[in-house]
Amino acid sequence: MAYICSKCKKTLESHEAYEYRGAIACEDHFDEVIEMRDFERNEIIQDEHNKTKTFKGLDISSSEIGKANRKLLKPHIEIASKESQRLREYEGR
Ligand SMILES: [Zn+2]
Repeated sequence: MAYICSKCKKTLESHEAYEYRGAIACEDHFDEVIEMRDFERNEIIQDEHNKTKTFKGLDISSSEIGKANRKLLKPHIEIASKESQRLREYEGR
């Protein structure tokens, strides 16, 4: 398997490659890749938070009100579940 630094795109031997949360880095760029990766992660989490807060605190149970709310919020709920998928993919789960 070839390792490629996600910062400078240099091809690395396995003993030269560093890994952080699924991202490969060379020795020189390990710190930057950690930062980049954490930044991406925070962005995804922030995005998710923004999308779910639309219906946070609303009744989306199986009650009559909950059903009506769910119908109304269907596009938002779908977006939120897609975002969770994105986070799972990011974390390689
Ligand atoms: Zn590099």
